[in-house]
Amino acid sequence: MKLLYKTALPMALLAVAATAGAQDFPGSKPITIVVPFAAGGPTDLVARQLAEAMRKPLGGATILVDNAAGAGGTIGANKVAKASADGHTVLLHHIGVATAPALYRNLPYKTLDDFEYVGMVNEVPMTVIGRPTLPANNYAELTKWLEANKGKVNLANAGLGAASHLCGLLFQSSLKMEMTTVPYKGTGPAMTDLIGGQVDLMCDQTTNTSSQIEGKKVKAFAVTTRQRLATPALKDLPTMQEVGYKDFEVNVFHGLYAPKGVPAAALKKLNDALKVALKDPDFVRRQNELGAVIVSDKRVEPAEHKKFIAAEINKWTPVIRAAGVYAD
Ligand code: ASP
Repeated sequence: MKLLYKTALPMALLAVAATAGAQDFPGSKPITIVVPFAAGGPTDLVARQLAEAMRKPLGGATILVDNAAGAGGTIGANKVAKASADGHTVLLHHIGVATAPALYRNLPYKTLDDFEYVGMVNEVPMTVIGRPTLPANNYAELTKWLEANKGKVNLANAGLGAASHLCGLLFQSSLKMEMTTVPYKGTGPAMTDLIGGQVDLMCDQTTNTSSQIEGKKVKAFAVTTRQRLATPALKDLPTMQEVGYKDFEVNVFHGLYAPKGVPAAALKKLNDALKVALKDPDFVRRQNELGAVIVSDKRVEPAEHKKFIAAEINKWTPVIRAAGVYAD
């Protein structure tokens, strides 16, 4: 009897503690969205808008954004993989989540095993843009300028495995032209240098480039989608396919991830809050204005998103291996 009591009590307490933790979530502790790129870039912007939209469905919780930038997003992803699994630390990442396993030979986390998948957020097209002082005003003029400056052109990106890096690789291979790549910790600082004329070109998400294009801070040459975009600032831009590269298509997705082991109830609250946020008219309007497309409820389901990421890893791994690009 005594023995039974000794065993049963801690078990009961544990059960109560686990239930209480899940019910209390998010509790009084703030939630931190880790962005694996510098402030001022597209991933940062999606995270900040999402933080606002998820606040109410999470009972008015404080949601902070932490920019843990570097190494193409792998530093921030690793930070979340190793964070306490209580649901208070999540990662807002993009396509880099699926390309890192092939690009980084010593990736310190396992993409499919070390995260709980909260859900997918959006899909965002990219744009090919240039410094404002570039003497080309459309794609045909850019082609001429590139020909005349062979060997001297440089291309900014947000690090190995960043969306801008992948788009830049595709751009160079499509044009059969090598450019000097200049890596940054995110589009934020890369954009500052592009506007300042320190780098020539960049390919980046419309969430960050549309306002710069509209404000004439950078020159825009093409979009990376199959169809032209409806966004006012981008509607006159040709697709890369229109200008002659029939296989050129890049779309960046964003998703939300938590460390492995977050209690199912907390995970459900995060996923429910994400679904509510993705229907928030203000969030949807702001995202659409920037060219981002919110995904359907089905794609926000954790299992569905994990399946998608597994497929993306399988899609990108052979492409990256064939390109022979990697980091140790
Ligand atoms: N847009 C960047 C990329 O190229 C990352 C960022 O700053 O959001 O992946």
